[in-house]
Amino acid sequence: MIYLDYAASTPPNNQVMDSFIKVSNEFFANNGAVHKLGSEAHNLYIKSKEQIARFLRVEINELFFTSGATEANNMAVKGYALKYQTRGKHLITTKLEHPSVYEAFKQLEEFFGFEVTYLSGDENGIINPEDVRDAIRKDTILVSILHVNNEIGAINDIETIGEIIKTHRKIGFHVDLTQTIGKIDFDIKRMNITLATFSAHKIFGLKGSGMLYKKDSVELLPLLSGGKQQSGVRAGTFSTGHCVATAKAVRMAYQNRIQHYEYVQNIHNQIRQRLEEVDNLVINTPKENYSPFILNFSVINIKPETFLRAMSDDGIYLSTKSACSKTRTVRSRVIESITDDEAVITTPIRLSFSHYIKMHEIDEIVTKIIQNINMLRGK
Ligand code: PMP
Repeated sequence: MIYLDYAASTPPNNQVMDSFIKVSNEFFANNGAVHKLGSEAHNLYIKSKEQIARFLRVEINELFFTSGATEANNMAVKGYALKYQTRGKHLITTKLEHPSVYEAFKQLEEFFGFEVTYLSGDENGIINPEDVRDAIRKDTILVSILHVNNEIGAINDIETIGEIIKTHRKIGFHVDLTQTIGKIDFDIKRMNITLATFSAHKIFGLKGSGMLYKKDSVELLPLLSGGKQQSGVRAGTFSTGHCVATAKAVRMAYQNRIQHYEYVQNIHNQIRQRLEEVDNLVINTPKENYSPFILNFSVINIKPETFLRAMSDDGIYLSTKSACSKTRTVRSRVIESITDDEAVITTPIRLSFSHYIKMHEIDEIVTKIIQNINMLRGK
């Protein structure tokens, strides 16, 4: 089996699993409880946040545990827009966001009377910072733009966009860092970011855990009404085991980040070079400003589901766009925003990599891709 769907999810690291089991067994008390076992669990929660804050270079009181990036994105986008709606009802995002951001904006538009500007990317899927500047109005209160695109790997110039937003004091800036954290260097504080989000299961942590960074000076309308856990920003008893496991996953990802990046870049280059020679195959991941962890291409005239099934029968696991949109017919909103070629929009395949892939597997991956394309084209 060769797994090439690491952007959808990763296997939990053994040490992450060990800490999760140990902490969940031994420190099971409610971490809000006053007794000794409760305060021991609380200390582990604080320690986990301290560790993560150190790697992310933010303050400990600016981090909140969530059930994943989907929840964190909803908290950030809806929580900010609803909290500050009296200041203005205009929001800016892009057509290239993950559904957990994109659909949150759709909801704000449809049910809460907001007006949303959806920016398109250039031919590489990258947002032009000048388009952000042009879209800002007097009543704009929030801009949300992801860093690394989860479908094609294009990287947005968050630093320049942050500089533009900085001159508008009342505008919040949310950045989805789900495909960034632990893979690509990023400095939240330097980039004038108000809200940032990520998920643990993309970095060999556990599914069902993620984080929200919220700049101390801003407030959110909490999506969940309840107790005062996590300063009331995210009510509900949370799992100490998940906190410790997330801290471990972040630590391990950061400690090996540079070696893993270089290793994956090498895999990306080799596969890309060979796919560039295949007829009627269009590479959608840009040549510059991209994450090497993702390689997206369209195989013209071949249904992606059929291709994925053929690859899966050969023991190689890929995806089309993101796993979150499995049930719909394949039509990529992301690729649609960068080209009007229907044949490309409807046939995307995504390979996503990690350091677990062995160099000697590259040949088998490419050979099987080419064999299956030829087979499905009747060659
Ligand atoms: N944002 C991006 C960019 C993602 O890639 C994903 C995962 N596909 C999410 C958000 C949602 O993450 P989670 O599965 O933790 O809800």
